[in-house]
Parts: sequence; structure tokens; C-alpha cells
Amino acid sequence: MGTGQVTEANPYDMALAQYDGAVKHLALKRGIEDYLRVPKRELTVNFPVRMDDHTVKIFTGYRVHHSTARGPTKGGIRYHPGVTLDEVRALAMWMTWKCAVLNLPYGGAKGGVVCDPKRLSLQELENLTRRYATEISVLMSPEGDIPAPDVNTTPQIMAWIMDTYSMHRGYPVPAVVTGKPVPVGGSLGRAEATGRGVMVSTREALAQLNLPLRGARVAVQGFGNVGSVSAGLLHAAGARVVAVSDSRGGTRHPEGLDPRALVRHKRESGRLDDYPGGESITNEGLLASDCDVLIPAALEQQITAANAERVRARLVVEGANGPTTPEADAILAARGVLVVPDILANAGGVVVSYFEWVQDLQAFFWSEEEINERLERLMVRAFLEVGATARDKGVDLRTAALVRAIERVAEAIMILGIYP
Ligand code: NAD
Repeated sequence: MGTGQVTEANPYDMALAQYDGAVKHLALKRGIEDYLRVPKRELTVNFPVRMDDHTVKIFTGYRVHHSTARGPTKGGIRYHPGVTLDEVRALAMWMTWKCAVLNLPYGGAKGGVVCDPKRLSLQELENLTRRYATEISVLMSPEGDIPAPDVNTTPQIMAWIMDTYSMHRGYPVPAVVTGKPVPVGGSLGRAEATGRGVMVSTREALAQLNLPLRGARVAVQGFGNVGSVSAGLLHAAGARVVAVSDSRGGTRHPEGLDPRALVRHKRESGRLDDYPGGESITNEGLLASDCDVLIPAALEQQITAANAERVRARLVVEGANGPTTPEADAILAARGVLVVPDILANAGGVVVSYFEWVQDLQAFFWSEEEINERLERLMVRAFLEVGATARDKGVDLRTAALVRAIERVAEAIMILGIYP
């Protein structure tokens, strides 16, 4: 596993290549090593949705649980035309490691529906969501598996999932899903949590490199939930956002862009590449931007063997899951580019999802200050722990984060034993 073309093509092969690289630094029992290489369970659902023109269309969706050794499974749901079972498997495995790095009492899961939400009306999106939620309800519950937002899924979609599940139970069950709107049991601070974690990771990594955050030039690929919030919070902390992009291309300005104005522009025109305050760039151009920090916050496999040589940043902070292929990792390391891996850098979302679930279960809600403080504490602690492991073992931050995570999951498996 993990060679050449294969890893570039398939996110699951990529997740396995990373896993195989990390287990070399651990003395795991062979059975545990093999057990953690595969998802615990996988569900594929094909289901009908009534469209606005009264036709019925069949959609395919997935929900994969990678591990339940440390607790119920947690992981987002993605709506995208490119969703595949292997992509969902990879994302579920990364969720296991992410929850373990942050020491959250969860295993990893992920879900996805093959669809283009831009081509669905609001009613069709609701119909699709409610039917998919019903189809995966054989796996989903507050005690067993708790979904959350991912690419193209929103707080409104989470509310429909909660409502569908609640209708079947006969009473409200807010803890079945996180990332909900605040009025129906969502948490303050959840919408910004992933971006806030990216900001904290960037700040900590720059401090390690003895570089100031104030004035640091940042380029952000992907301007959705993660990318736009990361850009906004870094700008507010004094960094200069010099380039941003979305799926259609982007814009740059060496003196810095105002993320709030970019959000407004994207809301109005639907794109970034025609922003009047900047010069239009392609996505490849964005990755090669003249900047100090590059934040990939779109999809997996964006920084590859084909373009890693052109990355000019000193620091890459992975807002997206799996944006850097193992081949690109090696090229960046050889060039002295520090990479803060996804399972650490973008963990802020699942941390505040955990807080949301705890608040829902207790029916007792915290203030935004309390949430942000706890998030900051957990992110900084994990960052320092991963840094210490990297120094002890002489490995990069990705390997160190994976080593810590795999160790924790393996320990739980050893304690639980094998049933029967
Ligand atoms: P989103 O749907 O809100 O935004 C995705 C953005 O990426 C959009 O702006 C889209 O236009 C852009 N994009 C898509 N393809 C692109 C391409 N080829 N080049 C440039 N931009 C492109 O999704 P999100 O929730 O912000 O998720 C982004 C990434 O962060 C994903 O990898 C996701 O798994 C990861 N993530 C999300 C969360 C969360 O809480 N939402 C948490 C952790 C990790």
C-alpha cells in the first residue's frame, strides 16, 4: 500500500499509507494493527426522493463506522457528486484518529450522499436529507453514532436530521446530531469552531517557527465554513489574508484582503474570482501563492506530487481533511515546510460538537466564552502533546499525531478485550 499512483488516486489508500507509516513507530500486536486498518461497519443505502417535477430519483448514500473502541462514533455527512465509499472510509478513519488525538470519548464515522446540492431545490434537499436520515437511523443514535456537518451540509440540514429522528421516537432527541442551529439545541461557537481551531493551530505553529502572527501572509483554499471562518479569525488576529479561492477560482491582493467583504461578495455574486478588490487567480495559482501560511480548506488530495514543489509557504495548516498526499508530504518535509496535519489542525469542529452533545445530554447550556476557552485549552494541549511526541520520536507532526491517536485506540482495545 501507499505507493505512487495509487495513493494519489484514492483517499482510502492514502489514509492506509499514513497509517502504515505511523504504526512502524509503535510496537502494536499484529491483530490490533490489522483490526484498525479496516472499518468496523459500512452501510450503503439506495433510496428514492420525490423531486419538484413529481419524478422520483434514486440516490446513493453511505455511513461508515471505523472504530467504536473509545466511544460512540462521530463524524460529518458530506453531500457532493464525487462522494465514494472509499472517500467515506478514509474520512471515517481520520475521524477515529482526530477524536483520539484530542482525547474525546468517541470513535470515528463519516457519511455521504452522492448528489450535487447546487442542483437541488430547498424542498428536494429536505426530502433527500429526511430520507437519508431515516435510512441510516439503523446506525444513528445519541448513544451510538452522532453525525455533524461536512462539505455542503449546513445547520439547517442537521436540524432536519434531528427532526426526522425525533419524529420516529416521538420526542425531541437533540443529541443525535451536532452542528444544529442554536434554537434547537445547537451550541454557541459551533459554527466557527473548526476555523477557530485552525486559527489556534496556526498561531501555535508560527510561534514554534519564531514567526509573528501579526503581519503573517495567509492564503486559503476553499471559502466555505472552514476557510471563510479561518480567514476571518486570522485577519482579526492581525494576519494578512493575501489570497482565497473556491471551486471556481479565487482572488489575491499582496497587501491583504478583507474576509468580511469577501463573504459579502461571495453571497451576492456566488463567486470570488470576480472580486473587484483583488486580482483573479486559479486554484493552482492559489496553492503556489507567495505567502507564509497556506491553509487548504476545500477537499482532499489538493497538494500532490505534481504541485508540492511550487508551494511557497513556510507553514501548511490543514483545514480540510486529507488535503496533502503522502508523496506531497515527503516533498514538503524535504523542503522544510512545516505541516500541521488535519487530525490536529481542524479538530476544533469535533471538539465543539462534543461540547454540543454534552450540553444536549445534560439539557444545560454553556456561554460562548466558556466554549471558546475550553476549545482553546483542548487545542493547545493537543498541539503541545503532538509536538512533544514529534521531538521524542524524531518524526513529523502528522506521524506524531497518528502515533498518539493509534496508541490511545489500541490501549482501549487491549483493555476491552475481544468478545466473545
Ligand atoms: P463547505 O462546503 O462549507 O466549503 C467547501 C469550500 O471548498 C467551498 O467554498 C467550495 O467552493 C470549495 N471548493 C470545493 N472544491 C474546491 C476546489 N477544487 N478548489 C478550491 N475550492 C474548492 O465545507 P467545509 O465544511 O468548510 O469543509 C471543508 C473541508 O474541511 C473538508 O475537507 C471537510 O471535511 C473539512 N472539515 C470540515 C469541518 C466542519 O466543521 N465543517 C470540520 C473539520 C474538517
